[in-house]
Amino acid sequence: TCPAGHAARRPQRLTEMTLHNLPDITKAVLFDMDGVLYDSMPGHARAWMEMCRREGLHAEYDEFFGYEGRTGASTINALFQRQFGRDATDEEKTSLYQRKTEYFRELPPVLPMEGALDMLSVFREVGMQRVLVTGSGQQSVLDNISRDFPGMFDDDKRITARSVTHGKPHPEPFIKAMQLARVSPSQSIVVENAPLGVEAGDRAGAFTVGVTTGPIPREAMEEAGAAVVFSSMPEFAHMLPSLLLSLLTITSDY
Ligand code: MG
Repeated sequence: TCPAGHAARRPQRLTEMTLHNLPDITKAVLFDMDGVLYDSMPGHARAWMEMCRREGLHAEYDEFFGYEGRTGASTINALFQRQFGRDATDEEKTSLYQRKTEYFRELPPVLPMEGALDMLSVFREVGMQRVLVTGSGQQSVLDNISRDFPGMFDDDKRITARSVTHGKPHPEPFIKAMQLARVSPSQSIVVENAPLGVEAGDRAGAFTVGVTTGPIPREAMEEAGAAVVFSSMPEFAHMLPSLLLSLLTITSDY
């Protein structure tokens, strides 16, 4: 067969042209879950706001998008420090986080992020391993991955809150994911929607893509270390074949 002829017949399928000659730079892609695969952040922010309202804690809806990636305990401490000038006790952290989790479960089920399946399909077509890397312990969402994204993730290719000692922005979750996929940082791409997650991916040494799927400004993603920022998931999915091609070109220049 003639690869050039094949490409000429279907010039729009850039991903197929790269299938056989991807260099080392792109062996695995490590995906965050909330705000990347699922449009779940508005629900989390609403659940936090409901907990705060009932407990008399001051908070703004948008600030919870900025806390994304932190543990629940760390978010509760931040609220307590601001309002009372002290950390929450262990009992307060446990009980308030449990309430927040209950309010989240009472909301309508979260939907896959628009464009996420298209994005995953591109990475699968070029033969990159796909690993889920989330600080979420929300089992109700994790259980839906194989139903909502069929064939995209192996069950053993996931790093969750239970797999790590340190959450984002510590690089450990992504380093553990690289070990799981047996790739080096320079062979990895991270896809994140939150500055703390971008920081973790960058500190782990991966080419880190920021996608703004909520109210976080792109500048915050750039400051956190994003190599490139897209303004929506459909835009990222659409641009992904040419982004991968340009990564190939950069690599072949060395
Ligand atoms: Mg996220």
